Amino acid sequence: MELKLHALSLPLRHPFRVAHGVRETQENLIVELVDGDHRGFGEAAAIPYYNVTQDSMSASLEKARHAIESAAWDRPEALWEQIHPLMRDDLFALAALDEAAHDLWGQREGKAVHALWGLDVSAIPLSDYTIGIDTIPTMVAKMQEFAGWPIYKIKLGTDEDLAIVRELRQHTDAVFRIDANTAWTAEQTIELSGPLKELGVEFLEQPLKADDWAGMERVKAACALPVIADESCIIASDVERCAGVFDGVNVKLLKAGGMTPAKRMLERARELGLKTMVGCMTETSVGIAAIAQLLPLLDYVDMDGALLLGRDPAEGVTIERGVVTLPDRPGNGVIWHG
Ligand SMILES: [Mg+2]
Repeated sequence: MELKLHALSLPLRHPFRVAHGVRETQENLIVELVDGDHRGFGEAAAIPYYNVTQDSMSASLEKARHAIESAAWDRPEALWEQIHPLMRDDLFALAALDEAAHDLWGQREGKAVHALWGLDVSAIPLSDYTIGIDTIPTMVAKMQEFAGWPIYKIKLGTDEDLAIVRELRQHTDAVFRIDANTAWTAEQTIELSGPLKELGVEFLEQPLKADDWAGMERVKAACALPVIADESCIIASDVERCAGVFDGVNVKLLKAGGMTPAKRMLERARELGLKTMVGCMTETSVGIAAIAQLLPLLDYVDMDGALLLGRDPAEGVTIERGVVTLPDRPGNGVIWHG
């Protein structure tokens, strides 16, 4: 098996602001596994908040190159178990490798990954579309550029959060989700939750700092809306910890280290009575196609990442006004154009 790496610098459709900062291009790394006639693709995004760069991910994969290329495996989790000890400090790069292994597995078997897992894709959740932080008129314009979506996820963490949601509500009847990306205090969260519920908000994502468990206890007791963990839920052991204080978890393939651990985390979350969500980062259709395989395990999904790009070098799922259609192709269903 041969490992190939493709470093991408992708233009964003709009400068993307969240509570952590602003970006105009997105640097991603595509991992390709070649085995005879079969090729599998996976992807990781470089995200400054998580201290991940293209160079750091490439270096991690180069260090593990010999082990990856010489590994014998028939199911992708077997490769993951072999490589995880070598790459446990770079879960983003491991995730890209694991996605590529799943895509390759499906090519070898001639079946979609969700089918190999025995999942039923006939009833899957709608995806939201994300509106990054900006001036209020620009946020309205961003929403109208993707008019008619059933759900919008609104990034907040400004000094005019309620005014933003009130104005957006003037222009749509869609469901709103709020992602504060750790910007609020417990008291702010409780105070805002009532008015936001009245404005048709479905849930709040990660209002508090990732390690503010005491704050989350106070929020859990008094918040008018369900709260979903994102920055507080990175790896498998976090799911257990979230069960007492959050209503659900947003598992991301890149944070978790791939489809293998993400699937385990989602199954465990459901056992614990948590709502399940998968979120994307700003990824091409390579990464989004990997997320799509997990859709039957989800209550909510945020998989609009490829739509936030000015250029998508791959094909995977199609998403029209929130409705996700999986391709009839083996593996993750990725077609790579480069
Ligand atoms: Mg989030």
